[in-house]
Amino acid sequence: MLHSAQNNFSHERSHLLEFLRSRGIANASVLRAMGKIPREQFLEKNFARRAYEDSALPIGSGQTISQPFTVAYMTQSLQLKVGEKVLEIGTGSGYQAAVLAEIGCKVFTIERHQSLLQIARKRLDALGYHDIISRSGDGSRGWPEYAPFDAIIVTAGAPDVPETLTKQLDLNGGRLLVPVGSLDIQRMYLVKNQQGKLTVEELPEFKFVPLVGKEGWAQEERD
Ligand code: SAM
Repeated sequence: MLHSAQNNFSHERSHLLEFLRSRGIANASVLRAMGKIPREQFLEKNFARRAYEDSALPIGSGQTISQPFTVAYMTQSLQLKVGEKVLEIGTGSGYQAAVLAEIGCKVFTIERHQSLLQIARKRLDALGYHDIISRSGDGSRGWPEYAPFDAIIVTAGAPDVPETLTKQLDLNGGRLLVPVGSLDIQRMYLVKNQQGKLTVEELPEFKFVPLVGKEGWAQEERD
């Protein structure tokens, strides 16, 4: 998958792994994936040297690549298995999609900003992640043509759990991870589907850019 030519920042990457472990990230496949993927290649050149700080950074169109801890925490919370089908809402830089692919999942990803998607697509192809299926559009409505999914990860903050997404979960243990709350702060919700019955677990608070769409915030509400 990822060819070993890009090995700058390997020192910074191992520091990041140490930091993630110290914050409770113990899932070996998450750590392996984040220890392998060159986060600097998902950033514009002027931000590349900050790639291994635990911060969200701008990626253009007013959007951000999520903080490494957030990516690790969300990925770990989904308890993914090799071969599972995962839908990501909010491709952004493409980094989270690469992490999911590196773990061995079949990845589908949707981004609202076509320009961001094009850049992400190019990066992912250059790094060898050719099997990620992507499109631009409103991901709050999911991707019914490819449903059901074993997991859906929403990387933007929603006002409520998008009901359409819960309906695209596999009935046998499908998981939806979505930050829900105000425009300023959201709580991570882990929704599980067990034979059509939904359970909701509340996880810690995070801060995300808004999910804008039919089952997210209206454009006017966020401006
Ligand atoms: N996962 C990304 C990464 O690894 O770089 C970071 C995502 S960024 C925090 C949130 C992304 O969600 C933004 O790129 C934003 O344009 C996108 N977004 C917001 N609403 C969306 C929607 N309804 N459908 C698809 N993407 C959406």
